[in-house]
Amino acid sequence: MASQQSAPSRYDVAIAGGGIIGVCTALFLRQAGLSVAVFDKGQPGYEQSSRNWGWVRTISQAMEDLPLALASRPLWRQWAGEADFGYRQCGLLSLAQDEVEWTALQAWADAARAAGFAPRRLASAAIPDLMPQSRGRWAGALYSPEDGCAEPDLAMAFLVAKARAAGVAFHADTAVKAIDIQGGQACGFWTETGRVVADSVVVAAGIWSRWLCKTAEIVLPQLKVTASVLRTEPLEGGPIPVVASSRFSVRKRRDGGYTVAQRNSSVTHVTPDAFRFMRQFMPNFLRQKKLLSVRAGLPFFQELREEQRFGKGRTNPFEAYRACDPEPDRKTLAATFERLKADMPVFRTARVAAMWAGVIDVTPDALPVLSSVGTYPGLYLATGFSAHGFGIGPAAGQLMANLITGGRPAPGQEHFTLARFGCNGERTGK
Ligand SMILES: Cc1cc2nc3c(=O)[nH]c(=O)nc-3n(C[C@H](O)[C@H](O)[C@H](O)COP(=O)(O)OP(=O)(O)OC[C@H]3O[C@@H](n4cnc5c(N)ncnc54)[C@H](O)[C@@H]3O)c2cc1C
Repeated sequence: MASQQSAPSRYDVAIAGGGIIGVCTALFLRQAGLSVAVFDKGQPGYEQSSRNWGWVRTISQAMEDLPLALASRPLWRQWAGEADFGYRQCGLLSLAQDEVEWTALQAWADAARAAGFAPRRLASAAIPDLMPQSRGRWAGALYSPEDGCAEPDLAMAFLVAKARAAGVAFHADTAVKAIDIQGGQACGFWTETGRVVADSVVVAAGIWSRWLCKTAEIVLPQLKVTASVLRTEPLEGGPIPVVASSRFSVRKRRDGGYTVAQRNSSVTHVTPDAFRFMRQFMPNFLRQKKLLSVRAGLPFFQELREEQRFGKGRTNPFEAYRACDPEPDRKTLAATFERLKADMPVFRTARVAAMWAGVIDVTPDALPVLSSVGTYPGLYLATGFSAHGFGIGPAAGQLMANLITGGRPAPGQEHFTLARFGCNGERTGK
C-alpha cells in the first residue's frame, strides 16, 4: 500500500481483471468516451482467456447465450480485418457417437431453430464430406459453417493492444485487494499500490470473482473446474472444421498444429464453497455429471486457509497467485490423443508439442453474470462464463458497456442478473 498517502488515481470506470471480458468491456466503454482502467494481478489475458480451446461457436450454446454468440460474430470478423490473430470461420462439426447423443443434439437444433438459428443436420453418410479423415461411425452431426475459432493468446494480445491504443489504462501486476464501498456505494478499489477512485467498478476477475465479491460481502455462487488441453506440432491433412465430440475434440491451429482436448474430462475439487453452494449447483451437476470428475483432497484445506487471508491491509490470495497455471491431466490427455489417432489415422504421426490446463469459473446454471449489484450502486459483475466466455466475449463486453453507460439493454439481459440466484447484494457476514 505504498502510495496510500498520495492522491488516488481517478477514472470513470475501474475494472478488476484483464481477461477477454474485462478487456472487451474496457474497449467499448472507452469507445463510448469514458476514462477506463483495467487492473490485473498478473499479466492481462494470462488465465482462462489465453489458455482455452479457441472455439468461437453457436452450436450447443444455451439458448440464453445464443444472442451473444451471434452478436459476437460480426465483431470477431471486424477485428480479424484489423490483424491476424487466427480467426477463421472454418465451421464447427458436432458429432453424435450414438442415438442418445444424436437425439440430444437434435433437440438443441429444434430449440435453436425456434430461436431463429438453424444449423445443418448431417446424417451419418454425409459426415465424411466434411471430415474424410474419420474412420469412426457417427450417428449424426450438426454443422454450423459460420462457427470457427481464433488463437486465444494472439487474440488477447490483439485486444489488449487495441484497447490500449484506444486509451484504456492497463495496470499489470496490480492486484485489486478489495472493492471500496463508502456511503453504501461502490466508489473504487483498494489495490496493492493504493486506492483507485471510480464512478463505476467492474469485477471481471474470472475464477477470483467470488473472493473479490466477498470483500464487499456480496455472495456470488461460483465454483471452479479444471480442464486440460494439448497441442500438436504442425500436421498435414487433418480436419478443417472444429470437431466436437464426446470421444475427442480437435481444432486446427494457425501454426498448422492441432489443439486436442476432451469435452467430458474436466475435474472439480470438493471445497468449502462446494458445500456452501451445493443446493444451487446440484440440479445442473446431476444433469452434467458425466462431464465432470469430482475429487476430494488437499484443495479443500488450501481454500479454507486462503479464505481467511483477506483485507486491504494484508497480503491476500490475489497477490499470492499472480498466475493460475495448474498441472494438466496428462493421463487423460494421452488417452484422448490415442482415441483421436484410432479414429483419424492421419494423427498417428502427430507429435505432442505442449500440454497445459486452465481453471474455469462456473455458475449454478452455467450462464454468466452480467449485472449491476442491487445493494451497491456503481458495482457491476461480468463473470461466471462457465467455459464459453471466449467466443461470446466481444458481445458480452459490449453488453456490459451498455449496462454501465445506461444504453439500451440487450435482449435477454434478464437471464444474466446476479439477482437470479436469490442473493443479489445480500450481506452475508461471511
Ligand atoms: C481449458 C479451457 C478451455 C476453454 N475453451 C473455450 C472455448 O473453446 N471457447 C470459449 O468460448 N470459451 C472457452 N473457455 C472459457 C473461456 O476461456 C472463459 O470463459 C473466458 O476466457 C473467461 O474470461 P474472463 O475474462 O472472465 O476470465 P479470465 O480470462 O480468467 O480473466 C480473469 C483475469 O482477472 C485477473 N484477476 C483475478 N483476480 C484479480 C484481482 N483481485 N485483481 C486484479 N486482477 C485479478 C486474473 O489475473 C485474470 O487475468 C475455456 C476455458 C478453459 C480454461
